[in-house]
Amino acid sequence: MDSALPVSNAAPPHKQSADEWRMENKLLRARLQDLLDQAHRNQNIMARHQGFDLKLIGASSFRELIATIFSALALTSELDMVTLTLLDPHGDLQQMLLDLKIDLDEFPHLSFVRHKTELGQQFKPERKPVLGVFQAALHGQLFSTCPDQPASVAVVPLLRQFRLIGCLNLGSFQAERFSSTMATDFIERLASIIAVCLENVLNNERLTYIGLTDPLTRVSNRRYVEQRTLEELARARRQQYSIACLYLDIDFFKQINDRHGHQGGDEVLREVARRIKAELRLSDTLGRYGGEEFVVLLVNAGLQDAMLVAERIRKSIADQPFRLNQSGSCQTTISIGLSIVNPALNQGEAGGVASAMVLRADRALYAAKKAGRNRVRCN
Ligand code: GH3
Ligand code: MG
Ligand code: MG
Repeated sequence: MDSALPVSNAAPPHKQSADEWRMENKLLRARLQDLLDQAHRNQNIMARHQGFDLKLIGASSFRELIATIFSALALTSELDMVTLTLLDPHGDLQQMLLDLKIDLDEFPHLSFVRHKTELGQQFKPERKPVLGVFQAALHGQLFSTCPDQPASVAVVPLLRQFRLIGCLNLGSFQAERFSSTMATDFIERLASIIAVCLENVLNNERLTYIGLTDPLTRVSNRRYVEQRTLEELARARRQQYSIACLYLDIDFFKQINDRHGHQGGDEVLREVARRIKAELRLSDTLGRYGGEEFVVLLVNAGLQDAMLVAERIRKSIADQPFRLNQSGSCQTTISIGLSIVNPALNQGEAGGVASAMVLRADRALYAAKKAGRNRVRCN
């Protein structure tokens, strides 16, 4: 048997010349350098993202978290625009943040929607990120606060325990940046970190809110007003303006309880708080001080301004009957004592200045009661 190896009719192996070896070597070196550069770039990107994750996790308040997302995410991920939309079905999240005096105007790219259909598109049941070309009909609302339109977008659902809490919207001027065929693992990971951090800071804000809010009327409680008075006095001293303090007490409130029951009394308390609040600016402070007593701080208000506000509050309560759920309606009035502090002239210890201010307003209230109720008196 012929045991010879199969004969190849291919050309005999080409012997590389020294020049060719050198050329190939050069190409391989260049390729290796490319790979090393790429690895370095990837390492830098990883380090940037890790740094971003740590900042997110370290944010201790809603304000700090949102500021981090808007200031750092676009840079870290080389994006041209980032917006955030939060689902707030009853408007109470936004109300809580406002009550906590968190200035939402600071974040023009943060918005709140009542219903998930307003997220611009219905996420499919699996709620995966949606990547692709920007389409005004689908994504326009989510990027409406950006001066220019993106070319491609990633709309990323934020989920907590399978519940949609909002979406993170990433935009790029490069059409090829986000396409529907891209893997989304990285973006999903980012979204889950952001969702957990959001829930965490919002829970903290809620705890603060509960500790500082009167559960019946949902205005601030006495603890908050006392704390705030000290802060406002310090600010007024720095900025050289005066502060007015109103002490308000519902007239003959015991009779309302007697006639309409405790439940009816509670409804009147809630409505009185609402009417007082409606007459104030966002920068003013309203708190329930005790049973049927409220305190208001008007910042940067002189005697005349404060008298006008107090008179408006008095009228808003006296002029309109209170509709009650169970027992028809009732009429009530409120007496108001007023004091003014010019912190520039009151350089004493802030706690002492604050309690003297409230005490003077309380004395003025007593004078208003003595003079026949349903009136404003100044001390
Ligand atoms: P005046 O015009 O002198 O202020 O008379 P008044 O009846 O309003 O004053 P008084 O201090 O005698 O009565 C206050 C009442 O407020 C007594 C108390 O039962 C009632 N009250 C305190 N807290 C609550 C509350 O949370 N809900 C209800 N419904 N009533 C409350
Ligand atoms: Mg009272
Ligand atoms: Mg009273």
